[in-house]
Amino acid sequence: MTNAKTTPMMAQYLEIKAEHEGALLFYRMGDFYEMFFDDAVAAAEALDIALTKRGKHDGEDIPMCGVPAHAAEGYFLTLIRKGFRVAVCEQMESPAEAKKRGYKSVVKREVVRLVTPGTLTEDSLLEARRHNYLAAFAEVRDQRALAWVDISTGAFHVMPLPQVRLGPELARLNPSELLVSETKERDMHELVGDFGISLTGLARSSFDSTAAENRICQLFNIATLEAFGGFDRAEVSAMGALIDYLEITQKGKLPLLRPPQKETEDRTIQIDAATRRNLELTQALSGGRSGSLLSIMDRTCTSVGARLLERRISSPSRIPATINERLDAVDFGFQQTRMRQDVRDTLRKVPDLDRALSRLSLDRGGPRDLTAIRNGLAEAENLSSLLASHDLPTLLSHAADTLVGHDDLIALLETALVADPPMLVRDGGFIAPGYDPELDEARKLRDEGRSVIAAMQVKFVSDTGISALKIKHNNVLGYFIETTSTHAEKMLSPPLSDTFIHRQTTANQVRFTTVELSELETKILNAGNHALEIEKRLYESLKGAILKCSGEIGQTSAGIAEIDLTMSLAESAGLEGWVKPKVDDSRAFEISAGRHPVVERALSQQSGEPFIANDCDLSAEQHRANIWLLTGPNMAGKSTFLRQNALIALMAQMGSFVPATSAHIGIVSQLFSRVGASDDLARGRSTFMVEMVETAAILNQADDRALVILDEIGRGTATYDGLSIAWATLEHLHDVNKSRALFATHYHEMTSLSGKLDGVDNATVAVKEWEGEVIFLHEVRKGAADRSYGVQVAQLAGLPPSVISRARVVLEALEKGEREGGAKQKTLIDDLPLFSMAPPPAPTPPKTSKVEEQLAAISPDELSPKEALDLIYKLKEAA
Ligand code: ADP
Repeated sequence: MTNAKTTPMMAQYLEIKAEHEGALLFYRMGDFYEMFFDDAVAAAEALDIALTKRGKHDGEDIPMCGVPAHAAEGYFLTLIRKGFRVAVCEQMESPAEAKKRGYKSVVKREVVRLVTPGTLTEDSLLEARRHNYLAAFAEVRDQRALAWVDISTGAFHVMPLPQVRLGPELARLNPSELLVSETKERDMHELVGDFGISLTGLARSSFDSTAAENRICQLFNIATLEAFGGFDRAEVSAMGALIDYLEITQKGKLPLLRPPQKETEDRTIQIDAATRRNLELTQALSGGRSGSLLSIMDRTCTSVGARLLERRISSPSRIPATINERLDAVDFGFQQTRMRQDVRDTLRKVPDLDRALSRLSLDRGGPRDLTAIRNGLAEAENLSSLLASHDLPTLLSHAADTLVGHDDLIALLETALVADPPMLVRDGGFIAPGYDPELDEARKLRDEGRSVIAAMQVKFVSDTGISALKIKHNNVLGYFIETTSTHAEKMLSPPLSDTFIHRQTTANQVRFTTVELSELETKILNAGNHALEIEKRLYESLKGAILKCSGEIGQTSAGIAEIDLTMSLAESAGLEGWVKPKVDDSRAFEISAGRHPVVERALSQQSGEPFIANDCDLSAEQHRANIWLLTGPNMAGKSTFLRQNALIALMAQMGSFVPATSAHIGIVSQLFSRVGASDDLARGRSTFMVEMVETAAILNQADDRALVILDEIGRGTATYDGLSIAWATLEHLHDVNKSRALFATHYHEMTSLSGKLDGVDNATVAVKEWEGEVIFLHEVRKGAADRSYGVQVAQLAGLPPSVISRARVVLEALEKGEREGGAKQKTLIDDLPLFSMAPPPAPTPPKTSKVEEQLAAISPDELSPKEALDLIYKLKEAA
């Protein structure tokens, strides 16, 4: 690439750039990061900054753009969001040092970090209340596994995972970046594209499981992986790829990771991507967080608590013991109102320990991370004493145990650090006076310089007799003595000229220095630098002391998160009128006066109308389905009812109180929710096709522990098609899946199914007709809706009166036709083979043929040989 015309700096640039092809190279030049060539063109466009030129390469102008280094973080974020990655190239020495190495030497530069979506740690680039996961999917022969880390908190997990489950798990974790072997990269694009995850292909060697094992052992300083429990090759490979990638992007500086925790799919409710979207768990369909279940439930006081809440909503448990331990803790917080407020007041003062630790470990921290640890641990002690006087339920008592034991570290940090330190180490001034005698001495020298100089000025005035003499300071000369030009001659002649050395003459002034003054100046400067050096050294040692306890601090942080979440759920229970659900291993599903937490909030904020509570009972005996078939006009509240019951089950299993007067939930192991096509956002493929693919997924996967919510399935196609599909789907759910299910439809024909299938009950959302208009009561009652009220709803929606009256006429004609030919039509529907879920055909006796019948009628003993021969001819004819 280089040639004779290439400047040494450009040669260095090109060499570094060649090693970072896939990233924009932010090349440090003094106070700026500069980009050249194609990088400059792309960055200028993405950042909307000016594109200029600098010098020539191969006779062509070099395109260039730049951003100030102090503001670089904001630009990183914009670039990352637009799908770029950034290689940050720093100056590794000062220009003076470079010059020492030789005339024309270029300052040494190195890429110190690759900024990618999954490897951010800066507070300004991260959402405090959300995790930022980097995930890796590995396959080794027939094993597959997914591993994920949040390097901003150190969380590290792995789970075995068949490829078909990858989509749902990605939907649950919502990582920013997924690593796959480059051979798999192409196949994965479609999958991750749906979730907006940035996909990174790594060389196969990054996934090599033997190398991976060594990497993990080295990172955690263990002799063998057994120390963390058993992992299969795919799990090891996925974890190894993560570590390898972190080494590449962090240039060898590894973040602090907790020992990997193995997750298994059977501990949490399986929820696929469509269901998550549809139930608006962490994100509303409109995109943002507001309007999601998370936004309603979140009353946490700390970022660690908020992140734990998001994890719980995304993966509710299916282990009754775990759930009940959590519920008992929430119940305790709910009862102890006074203590809960005190605890929450304290929690509000707890900084984000996990993220402070992570920045310290990556050397991206500052004095404020040290004080965050100090303040956090001190508040943890306070929390512990608030809890100490109570007889705590198991979960809280375990959490409380993690809060203490940091006395030495707290004492150290309290004596060492000032209350409110500056951002950056290089600003100094964060170490408290009295902590280090040498530092105090250096600071004294530096600060006393001023008064020494004042004294010196008094002395000079008396020595020279010039009362207007001043000692001043500027950046060019440093300290200097100044008199007006009128005194120049006196100053420049002996004896004064022996002491005062001339520095500068300006229009009105003459400036001097003395040996004494410049010595003092050096002393002041040196003292300042010396103080800074000492502070830097102390920073490193305090950081070391903290990192030595990182494991324990991490546990404290986890304890804080658990307490915060518990108290937040208790707070919500109190404010929202939620009750403690009963959760067990049964197949119960009994909710009295349930409400939809999000719709209820929206109603009270918008119209002040009350939310109408409704019961739901899907309890079923072992291995039997129980399905409610819900009919009722559009806008009656069918979707709301369906979703609220799914949400109540989910909230119960995450260990929260629920919006109902009572609820009994037998463990749900899978949750499915689908909405008929026209409600779904078009995603390129035919929406009806999407609906059918998703419905197929449910019918293929749901078991008798699943809870299935189907809203207007079959709506995306012609009436009879749609009805047929809805009908057959319901029968399959009933006969084969045997799930607990809620099924909303506007096909009235389906209500006759309840007569045929034991486990299907009809329910309807009541409406009242008054003076030709429909009034929605939002009340769910047993039984079928008598009619559909579509025309009335259309009227409410504001269709022109002429259209409405015409529609009434057409409807009447259709209904008349139905009444007359209806009976016949209905039998037809019932008899169609498609509509009956054929049980495995019972073995029917084979039909007998004519020949067989004739044979059976023969008594051979009574036949003459001639008759026998005739018979054979006859049989042959009949065959
Ligand atoms: P459907 O699915 O039957 O078309 P929705 O469930 O979308 O109807 O409900 C329509 C609107 O009715 C909701 O947006 C909500 O404002 C209101 N609504 C639904 N259920 C209730 C209820 N139980 N109490 C009060 N208002 C409700």
